[in-house]
Amino acid sequence: MEYRRYFGQAIDRLKAERRYRVFADLERDADRFPLATWRADNGAAQEVVIWCSNDYLGMGRHPRVIEAMTTAAQKHGAGAGGTRNISGTNHPLVQLEAELADLHGKDSALAFTSGWVSNLAAISTIAELLPNCLIISDALNHNSMIEGVRRSGCEKVIFRHNDVAHLEEMLIAAGHDRAKLVVFESLYSMDGDIAPVAEIAAVCKKHNAMTYVDEVHAVGLYGPRGGGICERENVMSQIDVIEGTLAKGFGTLGGYIAADSVIIDAVRSYAPSFIFTTALPPAVAAAAGAAVRQLKNSQEERTLQQRQVARTKTALAAAEIPVMANASHIVPVYVGDAELCKAASDILLEKHGIYIQPINYPTVARGTERLRITPTPYHTDAHIAALVDALRDVWRRLGLPFGATPQPAMMEALPKPHLKIVAAE
Ligand SMILES: *Cc1c(COP(=O)(O)O)cnc(C)c1O
Repeated sequence: MEYRRYFGQAIDRLKAERRYRVFADLERDADRFPLATWRADNGAAQEVVIWCSNDYLGMGRHPRVIEAMTTAAQKHGAGAGGTRNISGTNHPLVQLEAELADLHGKDSALAFTSGWVSNLAAISTIAELLPNCLIISDALNHNSMIEGVRRSGCEKVIFRHNDVAHLEEMLIAAGHDRAKLVVFESLYSMDGDIAPVAEIAAVCKKHNAMTYVDEVHAVGLYGPRGGGICERENVMSQIDVIEGTLAKGFGTLGGYIAADSVIIDAVRSYAPSFIFTTALPPAVAAAAGAAVRQLKNSQEERTLQQRQVARTKTALAAAEIPVMANASHIVPVYVGDAELCKAASDILLEKHGIYIQPINYPTVARGTERLRITPTPYHTDAHIAALVDALRDVWRRLGLPFGATPQPAMMEALPKPHLKIVAAE
């Protein structure tokens, strides 16, 4: 048996499809965020501006967050010491969960080692504990939610992305008395579009379904206290389970759910991916808690970020760079070809000191490859001007069309392999 050959062939398949991923070796500079040092393959170091971080508000470098982390590490040590059951429930984690429950106006919250794990654990456990549960899932849900649906072993149906009428048809078809769990996101991170959360909540209530929303790309960023889109739209109390991450807007690591105490207690008691793994270290919990507290009490980070996002979108549009329109902090720039997208990213990095990861299939549909730009409060007007100049240079070098921002109708006409993949789950 030539074991190695199979791994090599698997890698070759990805390369042939232009899906092979290359990681940039970056060294983030906390004092000079969003600057970092990039090390090329030949070992040469170069300063770059990161334009695609999910540390949307720069909380990973906030002085209060770093102080909370270092103080907790000094006081409690580096690790958690065990699972939650076996001495891993350290006080900063208990405080963090109370902070998160309060953020979302729920009885309780439960922290996990990542947002990915929280979706896997919570969706699968909740659905599994309900008799004959039907999971009704948005077509563009994140991989972690799909893994949760799959793991539950329950029957599932998929509604067209953000299509409330289609969702309602499925709710009606399932019948009022059948257990139904509707899973969706509040803000989809690749197009930056926002779900009609109030309408979804209302239609689910009407047809007696449980709601589970992933607010990963919204927590910290939207709502008067950073509670996300559901806080902004005043529907947190209408949603049964709110899931979030501590690794994006809150700048640290971990994931969580917030819900009624009996739901939290059930997930805590039944989910193997919660029970049999070491808890978040106290220093991480303390840092995350500090970030959540900061963003509950301060509007400055959100205001500055939204201002720089608006300035970036305006400047790119004025320079006829095809920004895909949305009402969020995500700035997707349409390229529409995997190789050109990779080439654009390479030129930005090598010639302009700008790091923007290419977003290709399967993360987005083929033909909709893009650069996904995420301005933070720390991207200055000078950074924006340099980004615009660099993108214009890249567009000229690669012969990409200026000014042709694809409209939703045009996007509809494109093949959607991503949808097919999700629907096949
Ligand atoms: C990133 C992401 C997650 C996973 O969160 P992590 O904390 O990074 O594991 C879950 N859901 C969505 C929609 C995401 O984009």
